[in-house]
Amino acid sequence: MSAAPSITTFRDDVRAAIRDAGAPRHVIVLAIDGVPYALAARAWPRAQVAERRSVFPTTSATAWLSSLTGASVDAHGVPGVVFAVEPGATPIDVYQYQGSLGAPPPTDLFSDAAGAGYAPVAILGDLEDTPGAWRDLLVHRARPVHGHRFFWEPGAGGAPGAIAARVGAAVDAALAAQPGPCLAWCFVDADHHIHRAGYDAPLIEFLAQLDALAAAWAARGALVIAHSDHGLAPTRHDPSIAAAIERAAADHGGALGGAGRTRWLDVAPDREAAARAALRAALPASVAIRHADELFAPGSRARARVGAIVLIARGEAFVAPAGYAYEHGSLTEAELAVPLAVWSPC
Ligand SMILES: [Zn+2]
Repeated sequence: MSAAPSITTFRDDVRAAIRDAGAPRHVIVLAIDGVPYALAARAWPRAQVAERRSVFPTTSATAWLSSLTGASVDAHGVPGVVFAVEPGATPIDVYQYQGSLGAPPPTDLFSDAAGAGYAPVAILGDLEDTPGAWRDLLVHRARPVHGHRFFWEPGAGGAPGAIAARVGAAVDAALAAQPGPCLAWCFVDADHHIHRAGYDAPLIEFLAQLDALAAAWAARGALVIAHSDHGLAPTRHDPSIAAAIERAAADHGGALGGAGRTRWLDVAPDREAAARAALRAALPASVAIRHADELFAPGSRARARVGAIVLIARGEAFVAPAGYAYEHGSLTEAELAVPLAVWSPC
C-alpha cells in the first residue's frame, strides 16, 4: 500500500504551490476525471507529477467532494452514486438529485482562494448537464462559468485536439473576464470516454495536448495544477453476479445502492445473516463481501446512507452498464492512485 497522501490534502497542495509560485498570478486547476497516477506521470512530462490516494468508494461524486473540501467521506456524507439520503428512504441518484444532501463542509478550495485574494471561478465544463445538490455542494462558493462542454459536447466526436482546444478556449475566456488574479477550476470528464474506450490512443493524445496547453499557460506566468478523482479498472458485466445480487435483494426485502464496482444491500437487521449467507453461496471469491462498519465510521452521515452488506469487485467480473469496459468504485491500485500535477510558472 502506497504511503502517498490522500486527495483530502488537495487544498494544502494548492496553498503550497501558490506559495512556491510567488507573486499573485492566475491559478488554473484542471480537474480531469478518471486519470490514474501512472498514466499522468507518463503523459505530462512538462509537469511535476506526485501521487495522491483517492478515497473509498473511488467514485467521482465522492472523490471530488473530498478533494475540494478536504472532508472525509464520513464527514461529507456522499458515499457513492445511488444511496438513501435518510435511513429507509428510496435511494436517489446523486447526479440527478435536486433535494438537500445536508449542510456543506464549512470551507473549501474556493473559500481558500477568496481568502487569499483570488477570484474563485468554476468552469462547469462537463458538469454543465449535472445540476443539483451534489454539484452545488462542490462549486457553490465559486463564480460559475457556463456553456463549455468538453467530452460531453454533443455530436463533436472524440477528436483529442478539438476537445483540448475547447478546454483552452474556456480557460482563456474565464481568465480574461477577471480583472485581477483568479483561481479557475475547470472540470473535464475524460471518464466519460474511458468507461467505453479505455486508455486508448485518442485519450493519451488528449492528455499530451493538455500538457502542451498547461506548459503554454505556465510560460505566460500562470500556475497550472491538474488533479483527478480515480482511475478505472477493466470491468466485465457478469449476468450471474448481477442475478445473485438482485435475487438477494428480492428474497430479503433489501434496497440496492452503490458506486460502480462497489454495491450494497440494505436489509432489515433480522434478515442480514441470511442475505449474507445467500450472497456468499452465490458470488465468486472475486467479489468481497464486507460490513459497512468496516468501511465507513459507525454513526457518520456516510454510514447512515449505505446498506450493511457491501460488495466490492476485486477482479474484472462484476456488474456494469451496457457498453462499459472500464469502471471504478472499488479498491484496486489502478483506481486508488491519482496524480497531483504542477506546471510551475516560468
Ligand atoms: Zn470520476
